[in-house]
Amino acid sequence: MSALPLVFDAPRRGTPPRHLADLTRDEARAAVAELGQPAFRADQLARHYYRGVTDPAQMTDLPAAVRGTLTEALLPGLLTPVRHQEADGGRTRKTLWRLHDGALVESVLMRYPDRATVCISSQAGCGMACPFCATGQQGLTRNLSAAEIIGQAVEAAAAMANGDVAGGPGRLSNVVFMGMGEPLANYPRVRKTLDALLAPSPHGLGLSQRSVTVSTVGLVPAIRRLTDEGLNVTLAVSLHAPDDELRDTLVPINTRWKVGEVVDAADAYARRTGRRYSVEYALIRDVNDQPFRADLLGKLLAGKLAHVNLIPLNPTPGSKWDASPLPAQREFVARLRAAGVATTVRDTRGQDIDGACGQLAAADSVSVPSVAVPVPALEPPVELGAESDQ
Ligand code: SAH
Repeated sequence: MSALPLVFDAPRRGTPPRHLADLTRDEARAAVAELGQPAFRADQLARHYYRGVTDPAQMTDLPAAVRGTLTEALLPGLLTPVRHQEADGGRTRKTLWRLHDGALVESVLMRYPDRATVCISSQAGCGMACPFCATGQQGLTRNLSAAEIIGQAVEAAAAMANGDVAGGPGRLSNVVFMGMGEPLANYPRVRKTLDALLAPSPHGLGLSQRSVTVSTVGLVPAIRRLTDEGLNVTLAVSLHAPDDELRDTLVPINTRWKVGEVVDAADAYARRTGRRYSVEYALIRDVNDQPFRADLLGKLLAGKLAHVNLIPLNPTPGSKWDASPLPAQREFVARLRAAGVATTVRDTRGQDIDGACGQLAAADSVSVPSVAVPVPALEPPVELGAESDQ
């Protein structure tokens, strides 16, 4: 658990091949026209892509002679599945993807009775160096392109539609940026991804704003930028400590933007959108789970449009830290609620496949016996009470 440096600038590696999902609708139409085809073919291709169809044989509304050319030029395969792992009776499915340059990322699809959520990665690795997070301990390999991020959601939507997840065919309803990486450190591509997630067919997945969650360590200028975009997606802030002294060590970016500044930026987002933000707090035994810290957090958030999502720590390899025991968790929840702060405890999906929050560390080594990989787990389920708005 050595202290890693904070890294903001992703190393430059070869750019992935051009893909329809990186282009605006006008750019896509121009690209199709350059290939000698009428511009409306861009819409046809997009409709196929966002439905998970990339096999030219299935694109029966396109002339057979041009299907191959258009697909090759605009729908290159960017994500090659290395393996799928299932947990929770098949309702959680983690996929390890290989990218064009060999970089590895993971995404986790979680089906609940009332929704299906995919947790996607925005970077290969992460430069934020949080010592309790497996991805943070890997360092940053590179930013993902928009199409590489969007592709993870498209694949999840297709897996749901095809009935690849236990429970029969269904619909992908939620996307959370809680996989590998710090989404706001890859802002332009994440911004493009948001457009694609929200755009109606044929140029997107048509998800609702509230069912898309961007989670950040607290890059304050980027939160402000997001606030100015006019979007209403759900914002989650990974706080993990109510005081700067401890947060400096748990979330090293805190040495640059302090707890107060992060909460102010999230408050401004909530004021502009009218939507509650989520405060993520991994409960780490004897590190940040003391009753006095619950009280400090309660004081910090009382009266704000915020909701606390507690995550019992998912241990990562080599970590000396552990999850808080149940009685400590209950006490923490009780104190926050007594302060009037809406609080839930997050379900830990996929722990046995290292697919829970903070466990994503994409690896593809045969010497690693079962797994590898990523992160998140988001949302709800084990609600020790009240609501959850995700
Ligand atoms: N970089 C973004 C998104 C990725 S992580 C962020 O930090 O918000 C998604 C969530 O999982 C974050 O709240 C993160 O702090 C949390 N997390 C990381 N490692 C964890 C672990 N070992 N146990 C529980 N939660 C963890």
